[in-house]
Amino acid sequence: MIKFLDLKKINQPYEKAFQDRLKTIMDKGWYILGDEIKAFEADFAHYCGTKYCIGVGNGLDALVLILKAYIQLGKIQKGDEIIIPANTYIASILAVLQADLVPVLVEPNLETYNLDPEAIEKAITPKTKAILPVHLYGQLAPMREINAIAKQNNLLVIEDAAQSHGAVLDSKKAGNWGDAAGFSFYPGKNLGALGDAGAITTNDDALAKMIFSIRNYGSEKKYVHDYIGINSRLDELQAAFLSVKLPNLDAENGLRKKVAERYLAEIKNDKVKLPFFDGSQNHVFHLFVVRTEHREEFQGYLSANDIQTLIHYPTPPHQQKALSYMSNLSFPITEKIHREVLSLPISPVMTDEEIGYVIEIINKF
Ligand SMILES: *Cc1c(COP(=O)(O)O)cnc(C)c1O
Repeated sequence: MIKFLDLKKINQPYEKAFQDRLKTIMDKGWYILGDEIKAFEADFAHYCGTKYCIGVGNGLDALVLILKAYIQLGKIQKGDEIIIPANTYIASILAVLQADLVPVLVEPNLETYNLDPEAIEKAITPKTKAILPVHLYGQLAPMREINAIAKQNNLLVIEDAAQSHGAVLDSKKAGNWGDAAGFSFYPGKNLGALGDAGAITTNDDALAKMIFSIRNYGSEKKYVHDYIGINSRLDELQAAFLSVKLPNLDAENGLRKKVAERYLAEIKNDKVKLPFFDGSQNHVFHLFVVRTEHREEFQGYLSANDIQTLIHYPTPPHQQKALSYMSNLSFPITEKIHREVLSLPISPVMTDEEIGYVIEIINKF
């Protein structure tokens, strides 16, 4: 059986180092906002090339905290509009709603699955305050174009970098393209913790200071509360585990890319549309997503041949019950994507034989 993602195998090589870090934390007896989170924040900021990293509870909270901090700083007001891709994972949209802002969904580009600059420009109104690009499946959104539009229209850019740890364009990493970025370290992400975890990166002094406060009850000094904050802190144990894994992130992304390059070169089947990839470092292949008009049959066929696949995502956000107020909206490109996409197994621990087997089976479909 070829698993979609073998997390046990991914984390196995780190087990001894994890145990050492656990022992250190047990010996210290300090579990929240200690040395481990500070060390990881410094390391991850350095990795992304940003001035700050703020460790938080998960990727959703990272985005919520950025938006709430901008509201607190007076840069965004409740009811303002945030432009967001219609085909994103629902978390990006929930973050906007949880900050009492209005998500304005726009169609993606059908080739890259990322935001389409023309669609962004058409969606801008006097209430628009920010663009929230999602580097979907691991590939950077067209950030040069998005930043140019943002500059022209005086908008903030908030990256959802939950799937793109380490992706680079123009020597600039995911998380360093916008005014701020939200990361998730959910176990299945390219940099994954052993539980929930997330972070924000930014170069903005005032924003960072605000987020450091509101992730911790709006408090900088114990029992002094300046803002209505939340509790969303990256805990010491997860921070320590992430520090163990971070030095290998580029190598692991390289192994993912090798799998992707073989799929791209060797899968030859007219019924299966391969993802767009320009060969650069702008894609870290969090997912390898193909498209087919025969998805149900294709997924059943792969499963019958012991190849596990997943769908990212089966239902577009505007058709979810939770967002039923959007059910009158129509996004033909997004709807087509959700009908046709299928994610093949990809990970840093797939063997050459496994990759070859997946290719062989797909070519026989
Ligand atoms: C995983 C993910 C999130 C949310 O991250 P959590 O840590 O699960 O809260 C947000 N946006 C995108 C695009 C994601 O893939």
